[in-house]
Amino acid sequence: MSVPATHDVPQGTRAPDSARLLSIADLEFAYPDGLVAVRGLDLDLQPGEVVSVVGPSGCGKSTLLSVLSGMKAAKAGRVDWNESLLADTVAERGGERRKPRRRRLSLVFQRDTVLPWKTVEDNVALGLNYVSITKEEREERITSLLRLAKMEDFRGAYPKQLSGGMRRRVALLTGVAPLPHLVLLDEPFAALDEPTRVAVHADLLEIVYRLGLAVILVTHDIAEALTLSDRVVILTNRPARVAKIVETGFGRDRDIRALRETPAFQRMYGETWHELWKQAEIKPADRPTDRGR
Ligand code: ADP
Ligand code: MG
Repeated sequence: MSVPATHDVPQGTRAPDSARLLSIADLEFAYPDGLVAVRGLDLDLQPGEVVSVVGPSGCGKSTLLSVLSGMKAAKAGRVDWNESLLADTVAERGGERRKPRRRRLSLVFQRDTVLPWKTVEDNVALGLNYVSITKEEREERITSLLRLAKMEDFRGAYPKQLSGGMRRRVALLTGVAPLPHLVLLDEPFAALDEPTRVAVHADLLEIVYRLGLAVILVTHDIAEALTLSDRVVILTNRPARVAKIVETGFGRDRDIRALRETPAFQRMYGETWHELWKQAEIKPADRPTDRGR
C-alpha cells in the first residue's frame, strides 16, 4: 500500500479542467430566511472518483447535495460540469430533444425510498424511466445490476421480504441503473448496523468501480468515509466550505475489512476526527452576521 498524502485544501492543483467531471468554485447558498448554509466552497471531482464529505451536524452537507443536484439554486459561485464528458447525456436529433442515454446524476437518500408495492426488479427499473434504452437493454441492465449486488434470487421479491441491507442495495441499484456520471449519496447507510453496513460497503464499491461512476458520499461516519473514498473532504461549521482534504491513497484493490486495522487507516481516522472536532467547536455564524460577507 502506498503511503497516503494528506494536506490542506489543494484546490485547483490536482487536474486540468479537461480531466474534471465537475468543478465547484466559490459556491454560496442561502435559505430564504437569510441563513447562509454554504459559502466560499471550492471542490473538484474527477470521473470515477469517490469522495466523502464529512462535517459538523447542520453545517450544510445536505444543502450542498441539493445545490449540486439542481434542486436548489446557488446564490453565488459556479458548478461547472464538463460537458464534453457528458456528451452522451444530451442526445438531440432533428431539433427534437430525446431522452439521454445516461443521466447526469442520481441522488440516493438516507430514508427508505424503496416502493413497497413494487418488486425488486420494478424498483430498480424506476431508475431507467428517464433514459433512452430498449426493452432488451433494460432487461440486461437489471440482470447485471442484480448480479453485481448478489440479488439475482430476489428479483421478484417485495421489499417487505428483504432485510434492511438488501433494501439499501435496491435503493442503490435504482440510483445507479441509469449509469449516472455522478451519484450523490446522503447518509445512505446511517440506519444499518455495523456488520450490515460493511457488507453493503463492499457491494457499493464493486458497483461503482465496475460501472465507473463518480460518487459524492455525505456521511457522519469517519470510518465509512475513509473505507470507501479516494478523498475525504472535511467541511467547516456553517456556512460550509472545505476545511481540509484527506487523500486516502488506498487504491481500488483495498480490502475494506482489513483496512481498518492498518496504521495508515488509524492515522487518517485520527486526523479526520481531530479536524472534525475542531470545526464542530467553532460556532456556526449567528444568523444576522451570516448574511454579510
Ligand atoms: P447537514 O446535512 O450538514 O446536517 P443541512 O444542509 O441539512 O445540514 O442544513 C444546513 C443548515 O441549514 C442547518 O442550520 C439547517 O437548520 C438549515 N436549513 C436546512 N433546511 C432549511 C430550510 N428549508 N430553511 C432554512 N434553513 C434550513
Ligand atoms: Mg444532512
